[in-house]
Amino acid sequence: MASTPEFQHTVGKTASLSGTALHTGEKVSLKLHPAPVGYGIKFKRKDLQDEPTIDARIDNLKTVERATTIGEGSVRVHTVEHVLAALSAMDVDNAIVEMDANEPPIGDGSAQLYVDLIKRAGVTVQEEPRKFFDVREPMHVESKTGALLVLLPDEKFRISCTQAGPNNRFTQFLSMEVTPTAFEREIAPARTFVYYEDVQPLMEKNLIKGGSLENAIVVRGEAVLSKEPLRFADEFVRHKILDIIGDLALVGRRIRGHVVAVKPGHATNAELVRALAREQTRRSAIAVPRAMPTGDGGSRLMNHFFRGISPVIRSCRA
Ligand SMILES: [Zn+2]
Repeated sequence: MASTPEFQHTVGKTASLSGTALHTGEKVSLKLHPAPVGYGIKFKRKDLQDEPTIDARIDNLKTVERATTIGEGSVRVHTVEHVLAALSAMDVDNAIVEMDANEPPIGDGSAQLYVDLIKRAGVTVQEEPRKFFDVREPMHVESKTGALLVLLPDEKFRISCTQAGPNNRFTQFLSMEVTPTAFEREIAPARTFVYYEDVQPLMEKNLIKGGSLENAIVVRGEAVLSKEPLRFADEFVRHKILDIIGDLALVGRRIRGHVVAVKPGHATNAELVRALAREQTRRSAIAVPRAMPTGDGGSRLMNHFFRGISPVIRSCRA
C-alpha cells in the first residue's frame, strides 16, 4: 500500500467498526484515527472518565496469558495483538485506536477485519523518517516449555516459524518476508486456534463469554472444529506469525531482522521485545553523549565513547 518505507505513515482518515469482545462477550465499537509523526500507536478508552490513552509499548505490557494485555495505572486494554499486527504490517506507525470497551472486537479470530478497516481509512506517508531497530548480532530467548525465538541480522523483516501442537501434532512451518501485500494475503485471514483441553476450563469459568466457533478454531484430539473449513492447510502457523508481528509491534520501531520462531507464544514474544528494548536503551545511551567537556577530559571521553561503540560498528552490516 505504502511505497516509502523509510518514512512514517498514519491513516488517511477515521474509520470505524464494531463487534464482540472475546473475553466479556460485550459489544464494542472501535475507531481508528490519524495521529501525528512520532505518536506511535495508542489505545484510547472512550468509555472511561477523562478518556485515558495507553501507549502500545513494552513498558506497558501487563499480562500475556492467552492474549496480550497492556495498561497504565488501573486502565487495561486486552487482546491488542491482532489490531497491532495489522497496523504494523500494513505500514501504519502512528494512530489512535479508540474503543468504548476494554478489548477490541475479535471478529472471526483473524486480523482480516483490521486490514479491511485500515484499507477503508487509507495509509498516508508523513514527513519524518521512521525509527528502525537493526539487528546487529544474533539474539535469542527461550522458555521452559520449549518455545524458542532467535533474531538474526537481515535487511528485511522476515519471520520463519515452526508451530507444533501437543505431541507434535499439527506441526507446520512457514517462512516469509513481512510486507503489506504478503500480510494481507497470507497472514491476516489466519484465525485464532485453541486446544479444547485449554479452553474447556475457561468456558466453565465463563472467562471467554464471547468465544465460539465464530471466532476460533477448536482442536480436539485429531479433530479440527470450525465454522468454515480451514482457510489454509497450515492456518495455525500463519496465525502464530500474526501474533508474533502484533507482539513485536510493542518495540515501537520497525525491525530489520529475521525472527526464527519455534513453538512461539505471547510470553516468549514479549521476552524478545524486552530484550530488544534493553538493547535499544543500551545503544541510545552510547550514541548520545550528554556533554562533551573540552581539553584532555574531552578527548578521554571521546576515546571512551569510540571504544564503547567500536564492537557495534564491527558487527554492523554494510
Ligand atoms: Zn492471535
